[in-house]
Amino acid sequence: MFEFFLNDREKAYWKEVRDFVKNDISTQLIKDMDAGKIETGRPLVEKAGGKNLLGARFPSLYGGRNLNWTAEVAAVEEVGVLGTSLSCAFVMPSIVGEAINLFGTEALKEKYLKPTNQGRLYSAEALTEPRGGSDFFGATTTATRSGDHFVLNGEKRFVVGAQDSDYFLVYAKSAPDAPPHESISCFVVERAMGVKVQSIYNLLGTRGGGTGRLVFKDVRVPAENVIGKLHGAYQIFNRMMVPERLLSGAGAVGMGKAAIDVAARYSTRRKAFGATINNFQAVSFMLADSVASLDAARALVFAAAKLVDTGADGRRLVSEAKKVGTEAAWQAINNSMQMMGGIGYTSVYPIERFLRDCRLAMIWTGTNQIMNLLIQHEYYKELGREKGEFRDVEFDAISPDEEEKNYG
Ligand SMILES: Cc1cc2nc3c(=O)[nH]c(=O)nc-3n(C[C@H](O)[C@H](O)[C@H](O)COP(=O)(O)OP(=O)(O)OC[C@H]3O[C@@H](n4cnc5c(N)ncnc54)[C@H](O)[C@@H]3O)c2cc1C
Repeated sequence: MFEFFLNDREKAYWKEVRDFVKNDISTQLIKDMDAGKIETGRPLVEKAGGKNLLGARFPSLYGGRNLNWTAEVAAVEEVGVLGTSLSCAFVMPSIVGEAINLFGTEALKEKYLKPTNQGRLYSAEALTEPRGGSDFFGATTTATRSGDHFVLNGEKRFVVGAQDSDYFLVYAKSAPDAPPHESISCFVVERAMGVKVQSIYNLLGTRGGGTGRLVFKDVRVPAENVIGKLHGAYQIFNRMMVPERLLSGAGAVGMGKAAIDVAARYSTRRKAFGATINNFQAVSFMLADSVASLDAARALVFAAAKLVDTGADGRRLVSEAKKVGTEAAWQAINNSMQMMGGIGYTSVYPIERFLRDCRLAMIWTGTNQIMNLLIQHEYYKELGREKGEFRDVEFDAISPDEEEKNYG
């Protein structure tokens, strides 16, 4: 952790979350979720909500703590050590809450945001469809107006919390003939409105979150459950991607650090050829590579959080934080397994679970290829904007022959 980034209030919250992670979540819960005996993150949400740890960024009026992104990434890094399912349960109020807090009516905030932050309602987000997750605006779930209701039809898949959530944040086509960016609305849909769970997936990792496929067949949703402008969910989607991606990066860094800590301790005890294995550079340099990459990723996560705290959308840095954070974590966990030899591959240590969990981090909340798409797009835009503001080093070439600069 980089506690020097935090002021006193941020530090106090971070410490509360760190203590919560240390003391309030049992190993048994982690085991039972991994074994699929429990298919919900509700136990964590109830406990964390009871301690006022959820949705800390939101106003205290709605169960938050009036904190900021910087405090939240510091806290979520701590939660990352619990694995992706429990981390997901911890951050979901922040993701779903971002939409309701920024775009929802007072009534929606009172009815859903507040009890969600208090851990009394368990929520999920339903964006991805069987036909594809990356191409979000190609969604085919429809919402048709019928008096003072909308009728939803379609399917969503890979929804963490499908099994047990009280309500879902659902995006659906409300204006199918409009251009894609003006065609989608965002709804709060209660399970009790008629949402059906079709199947719970058998997953490599991230188990126990009740990840499933949802079916909406003539589900009637009151018009007051539309979040923000009708057909205007483009803006909401963009904003929700900030907590999705920033917190994915933060949680992954925490998980990577947890793995490397286990491997580092092992390396100071395990002997080979008459010496503890940390004496072999082949081992200790894997540690060095991992620690340095995780520190770099953490710095990026904090930089992105600080940028978003200024009010910027921070799209490039947020995408980079997600990509670099998850890839650094993957590499660190993989190195941890390698440092430990065969025993790292067994369930005697938690490294194998981290490895299974972490693999998802490079896929969900937008694949890392989609992060690349965003990063290069934002970079080219910035390059265009910056023209003329900085020294043009191209003209510092030793032999700047303009005739040789042939662009085809
Ligand atoms: C366990 C789990 C939990 C999840 N939780 C949730 C959840 O709670 N809620 C939710 O809504 N979704 C959730 N997801 C869905 C997740 O976000 C998507 O799987 C992800 O966004 C990718 O979508 P897809 O699987 O449809 O892959 P596709 O979009 O079909 O992509 C397939 C491949 O093509 C690549 N690709 C696609 N388009 C492009 C492009 N333009 N440029 C470059 N490469 C491209 C992708 O990078 C990927 O490699 C979860 C997924 C899993 C597996």
